[in-house]
Amino acid sequence: MCLTIPGKIISINNQTARVSLGGETRDVFMGTVKGAKIGDWILATGNIGVRKINARDAREIISLLEDSKQINKNKIDLKLNDIFRRAWDRRLTKDDLLYLLRLQEDEDLAALYSEANVMRKTILKDFICIHGIIEFSNYCQNDCAYCGLRSANRHLKRYRMTINEITAAAGKAIQRGYKLLVLQSGEDFFYSDDALAEIVRKIKEKNRVFIFMSVGERGYECYKKLKAAGASGVLFRYETSNPRLFKKLHPRGKNLARRLEHLKFMKELGFFIATGSLIGLPGQTEKDLLNDLLTTKKYANMVSMGPFIPTADTPLAKSPHTEEIKNWKVRMNLKMIAILRLLIPEARIPVVTALETLAGEDGRKQALHAGANSLMFNLTPAKYRPLYKIYGNKFYQKENIWEKYGLFKYEESYKMLEERMAKELERNEKQN
Ligand code: SAH
Repeated sequence: MCLTIPGKIISINNQTARVSLGGETRDVFMGTVKGAKIGDWILATGNIGVRKINARDAREIISLLEDSKQINKNKIDLKLNDIFRRAWDRRLTKDDLLYLLRLQEDEDLAALYSEANVMRKTILKDFICIHGIIEFSNYCQNDCAYCGLRSANRHLKRYRMTINEITAAAGKAIQRGYKLLVLQSGEDFFYSDDALAEIVRKIKEKNRVFIFMSVGERGYECYKKLKAAGASGVLFRYETSNPRLFKKLHPRGKNLARRLEHLKFMKELGFFIATGSLIGLPGQTEKDLLNDLLTTKKYANMVSMGPFIPTADTPLAKSPHTEEIKNWKVRMNLKMIAILRLLIPEARIPVVTALETLAGEDGRKQALHAGANSLMFNLTPAKYRPLYKIYGNKFYQKENIWEKYGLFKYEESYKMLEERMAKELERNEKQN
């Protein structure tokens, strides 16, 4: 479901209201909104009023989307201004990216976030989308050194949802208004390729919804079946673009080349690609992060990047996790979001749970102010949710306000996604 920024009615003439919205005024058709008066707050898609919203909720949504800090452009260093100009011309260089990655001063960072936020608003307008994720199995055949689901972890109680449970959970989410669902699991071959395809087909046959699969390295044939069954996208991180670091973290013969090979054929198969890496892995360098930006640019329609959180019962459980390190990761994650917004202006950039886990509720606001434009809510059934422990203390909160005001009853939300995805897929095709 998608959510737009609320506007305040400043005048009404017949069925048209003039609305102050995100710093501009807009004429909005009010045929579908009954009884609205001057001073009321409304939600609109484009020039069509959708519904009234109370003032308190309106302010809450605005505070999440709008940064009130004003940046004095004259005060920003000239080099930064040059880089911003190149971003708008889509000519950012590797040196530019490195310069941005190295920014430390609060004022410079505020300028970067602000520019990214302006880019988001200009390119993607004033709405953000909310997607859902259902984690349907925590079994995994892999042994990724950072992940609590690794097969060597004998302390984790394992679960698998049945096909009926998965389709029921998806059905419930769709009824609540979700238009894009990610189905995620460990690498669990208990579900055959055909079983996964059947799940997608069953959900799609009854609903207008986009399904993204996040099931790991299962080879070309599997993804071909998933595409044929109606899956639209994949969530598949390359984890780190440094092949040596990748090898160190992924035993049992896993390697980066095979991971990237998957991304390549996924793109060729016509999937919308959500990918990215972990930020703050032990042994990761600045050069690695720079290459992560470039690798993400190469593959991603949607960015999925989050901080590494040390997890109990894994080889990296004892990695340093001081307040200072946590803050560094949060800051670096926000910086990467902002840089990626400048580097891939059309990208869908969700705020990931790991960032919220480290930064709390405020992390969401900070990320949206730094150029992120979507949220991913956990819709795993409550009895399984605590068991999907890729890392501990995962952030989870009931998201009433978002669901309440998502414009989910309306076909617009689906059409908007469809249109955007089509554009992105066209872009992918040109690259293939
Ligand atoms: N099996 C699927 C899904 C993996 S779990 C696949 O292979 O794509 C989803 C993501 O969680 C991983 O891609 C990884 O980047 C992230 N993750 C795992 N352990 C983590 C940790 N300790 N801290 C932060 N993120 C972690």
